[in-house]
Amino acid sequence: MSADEIYDVTIIGAGPTGLFAAFCAGMRDMTVKIIDRLPQPGGQLAVLYPDKYIYDAPGHSKILARNLVDELYKQSHTFAEPEFCFNQQVNSLTSKEGHFALITNAGEHQTRTVVIAAGIGAFSPKMLNVAGSEEGKEGIHYFVQDLDYFRDRRVLIVGGGDSAVDWALGTVDKARSVTLAHRRDRFRAHEGSVRDLFESKVNVKPFYELRAVSGEHKVEAATIFNNQTQAEEELPLDDIIFALGFEADLGGIRNWGMEMDPQQKHLTVNPRMETNIDGVYAAGDVTEFTYLEKQELATPQQFVGGSELSVPSQKFEEQKERWGLIVTGYAQAAVAINHAKRFISPEAKLAPGHSSEMAPATRTQTGS
Ligand code: FAD
Repeated sequence: MSADEIYDVTIIGAGPTGLFAAFCAGMRDMTVKIIDRLPQPGGQLAVLYPDKYIYDAPGHSKILARNLVDELYKQSHTFAEPEFCFNQQVNSLTSKEGHFALITNAGEHQTRTVVIAAGIGAFSPKMLNVAGSEEGKEGIHYFVQDLDYFRDRRVLIVGGGDSAVDWALGTVDKARSVTLAHRRDRFRAHEGSVRDLFESKVNVKPFYELRAVSGEHKVEAATIFNNQTQAEEELPLDDIIFALGFEADLGGIRNWGMEMDPQQKHLTVNPRMETNIDGVYAAGDVTEFTYLEKQELATPQQFVGGSELSVPSQKFEEQKERWGLIVTGYAQAAVAINHAKRFISPEAKLAPGHSSEMAPATRTQTGS
């Protein structure tokens, strides 16, 4: 598809909710695009707890978060080929002659409907305020996807958590040299990994921090210093991997004209997962879960009319509560997408039918 093609639905966020929404859109024969600030799918599962087991994912007695992401990603290709746009943050949403335009740091996307599955916000890596360490410069890495890239290179890793230690252990047999600088002497990583680290060839530097990066267009060297003694060391380098964690921010979404809760953390949706903007839906952690609570009708005053035909004034009261679960995100994604389908094609049925009676487009990708 060309860059100005108008997609049937564009999903903001490739966490579990967004990935399942992409699957549902494929089932409804919709063209689908999915945009995420991260360079990979998975949202919170990918950046906050990839190696934890999830026990309440339907159909899996237990599954590692990273493996659930792989499965959801594969599943999203079952009935369609979603277009994934990674490393893009959606900064604005505007209405444009019968469709919407989404503006990201990399360009503009046209779409008939939008499903916001933004979770707790766009994830971005925590950065150090050290000149020369900006994202995008050659040799500066805030995400690691291909460990082979570091073959025969001189690498500095900054951080002391699981990612820092895992990347050090993952690169040490490929790289020419690996140094790990951590500002404390205690590591937050898994005990076994820390033991492996100290037994490996990684040059571990506790109490060391980054002071400067040199090299105009690409990394050439770094100055690190001991925060106890202030002693400095100059390391000739090709790459610096920052593993300082992530922060999430809903940012601009708050200014897109959508109703939110008083804390400005969740989008207000009705049971169809519609926001107050027609054609814009939301699902997953970014919403509050709406449920109906039965009211007590004990006293006669709660009836109107005053005759035998009196009816309860109100039997159920709408309540909202945050669940923050993968499984509720799935259900909300399905509801949002099917209403989006109806929005585009009013004659279409709301219910998607049974997937078991449909023919997958790409059986190999689903592993079936
Ligand atoms: P997210 O996973 O937050 O994904 C949202 C995505 O949207 C992110 O990738 C983000 O970068 C992207 N995004 C946001 N805004 C933008 C934007 N403007 N432009 C581009 N991209 C954007 N739940 C369970 O059900 N079971 C568990 O066992 C469980 N364990 C958990 C353990 C931990 C430690 C944590 C933190 C959470 C756990 N959860 C668990 C909760 C579960 O991870 C969330 O409910 C789930 O991730 C919500 O999915 P989501 O797709 O709605 O949002």
